[in-house]
Amino acid sequence: MTRAAVYTRISSDDGTAAGVARQEADCRELAGQKGWTVGEVYVDNDVSAYSGKARPAYRRLLADLEAGVVDAVVVWHLDRLHRSPAELERFFEVVDRAGVSKLATVTGDVDLGTNDGRFHARILGAVARKESDDKSRRLRRKHLELAQAGKVSGGGRAFGWEPDRLTLKLEEAELIREAASRVLAGESLRGICADWNARGVKTVTGTAWSMTVLRRVLTAWRTCGVRAVGKDTATTSSEPVADAVWPPILDRATVERLRALLLDRGRQLNRSPRRYLLTGMIRCSQCGAKLVARPRSDKRPCYVCATGPGFAGCGKIRVLAEPVEDLVAEAVIQRLDSPHLAAALAELAGDNDGDDLASGISDSERRLTELAEDWAHGEISRAEWLAARNVIERRLDAARKALARTTRTTALDGFFGAEGALRIAWPAMGIDRRRAVLAAVLDRVTIRPAVRGRNRFDPARVDVTWRA
Ligand SMILES: [Zn+2]
Repeated sequence: MTRAAVYTRISSDDGTAAGVARQEADCRELAGQKGWTVGEVYVDNDVSAYSGKARPAYRRLLADLEAGVVDAVVVWHLDRLHRSPAELERFFEVVDRAGVSKLATVTGDVDLGTNDGRFHARILGAVARKESDDKSRRLRRKHLELAQAGKVSGGGRAFGWEPDRLTLKLEEAELIREAASRVLAGESLRGICADWNARGVKTVTGTAWSMTVLRRVLTAWRTCGVRAVGKDTATTSSEPVADAVWPPILDRATVERLRALLLDRGRQLNRSPRRYLLTGMIRCSQCGAKLVARPRSDKRPCYVCATGPGFAGCGKIRVLAEPVEDLVAEAVIQRLDSPHLAAALAELAGDNDGDDLASGISDSERRLTELAEDWAHGEISRAEWLAARNVIERRLDAARKALARTTRTTALDGFFGAEGALRIAWPAMGIDRRRAVLAAVLDRVTIRPAVRGRNRFDPARVDVTWRA
């Protein structure tokens, strides 16, 4: 009996969940024609194919393939199954290990057992990818055209305007002007929020005011009637592109002063001492010394190769912390989704169980003490003691290292093998947790000297060496 798994997925382009029912019916019919018995139906009712969101049913399918309880896979079209070339290659790996070569698609069979079939699958994947890229490029282009015309973008009601995002809501506009002058007069956001909350002023969602929300309203380009692209929130990343079609509440100079005041990174850094993500893991390419965390004169955090008393460095490296940390985090997130990691981690941890290693270590330590006593009591010669001690110490060293490795891999529990899980969890993770994940897969990050005259951050300066 051939046990077939049916996989269906709906993406936002398809519209409704009716698409899933349709896919399933077609797949069941095809399985019937082939004489396969449909076991489980795996359904991911998910968003766009390339959004990078985790697909629980897909992961379950892979696990069941690995477990050998699935002999064939039926899917409506290959683009339901894979969203990226990397995912496709991973799928090949899994079916190879499981010895499954039967893959049927309603839109045309692909024989995964042959190179031709795989080539075909790769091409289909590349075509789907390109279509999706084209589509998002068209959307971005459309978005920019709207922006350049100063038109409204989508979104909910903005504080200060009616739901059409065009008409002023006068009492709210007045509140914005009030808050702007209070901030420019030196009052804190915290104080204004407290006052507004006491007066019963509500945000657009009907909640109490927080500093984050008030800062966003006061620093939005929208507030001075300017259309921007990029996330127009409390970040410096949005770019004004045109005069908007809606009326301003504040003049542009006022908003620019508010932005300078409220989005000042240095000011925010002063409030909470920054902790450094890569301390201990980042090194100088010139002398090999570990870089030291040290803010620049303008308070922006940096890693430097430190010289002087107590430091072993050469003083030739200095790099801004933030872009390096972002780059490394992204590399690690991608690394965790890579098929190579599974093998590498398995090798690292070995077949060793942490408890066995720990008891092995205490046995060896006890044996060393016994040997020393034997020698002290004249029961063995010094040469015999040294020879035995060397053997045990080597074994002990290996066991300690293996134990450290098993412990490290536990930092990845829940992330590794669960595609996209780390990407989703990362923003909310504390620095200690992040460092633990990094330490599990990262051997070191090496920073090369900057090219003279280049001011922007240069990713080529960063070299990542993987542990696993
Ligand atoms: Zn150095």
